[in-house]
Amino acid sequence: MALVTLAEVLNDAYRNGYAVAGFNFYTYEDASAIVRGAEELDSPVILMASGKAIKHLGVDYAASTVKVLAERASVPVVAHLDHATDLKTIFQAIKHGFTSVMYDGSMLGIDENIKNTKLVVSVARALGVSVEAEIGRVGMSEEGEDIGEILTDPDSASEFYDSTGVDALAVAIGSAHGMQKQEASLDLDLAREIHESVDVPLVLHGSSGVRDEDLRQIARYGFAKINIGTKLKHVFAQGIRDLCNSSTYVPDPLKIVVNASQEISHVVKEKIALLRE
Ligand SMILES: [Zn+2]
Repeated sequence: MALVTLAEVLNDAYRNGYAVAGFNFYTYEDASAIVRGAEELDSPVILMASGKAIKHLGVDYAASTVKVLAERASVPVVAHLDHATDLKTIFQAIKHGFTSVMYDGSMLGIDENIKNTKLVVSVARALGVSVEAEIGRVGMSEEGEDIGEILTDPDSASEFYDSTGVDALAVAIGSAHGMQKQEASLDLDLAREIHESVDVPLVLHGSSGVRDEDLRQIARYGFAKINIGTKLKHVFAQGIRDLCNSSTYVPDPLKIVVNASQEISHVVKEKIALLRE
């Protein structure tokens, strides 16, 4: 299959009250493990490259990795750029073949966020690429910096969507990036209010810290994209540690990464199954 856009994947989920998982990847190994997990459940999947992944792989290699995996895959795959705060990275990602980009203007005032997002939408739409943007601010940056959570105001979400026409809207309802335990306290009433105020697929960031029952609930409130990053980082690290701690020395890079990848595929399947219930 070829790559698909975020809009193609989210529209069905949004209309039917389920969510599609977006998983962060950093290397070929975790990216391919994510796709394998999705294939086993015959589910579409969103592969997300954050700033750190782009820095490591380069925007061209990150795009090529997802493109090749998508061509080999039996399920639809979205190549999504996660949390880009500068327009240059967004336009480079579009040029190299990402089918979806997130412009993150959450550190700016709403007027400037709208202005930049509109520019991204106008370029991306002309080239058939989907756009996600953020209104309010999800707590903790992906680099672990406390950036100050701002819960999303439903009226601002509505104004933002009406002004920009994005394909997906990330909102802050109490989750935070980087949480290792599922202990976030989501404001489910706020989630419902935002859903009632704005008719667009919503996105939850920081979902590794959210309880399974809350994830299922917000999928019914229009959250059609659920981002999962931290959980996979720990599964990857644990898989490598387990093998290295075993009594047999394994001087085989492939065995080490394949072992860790199997655990990633397992968690990917669990999350996909949960979100489409
Ligand atoms: Zn995020």
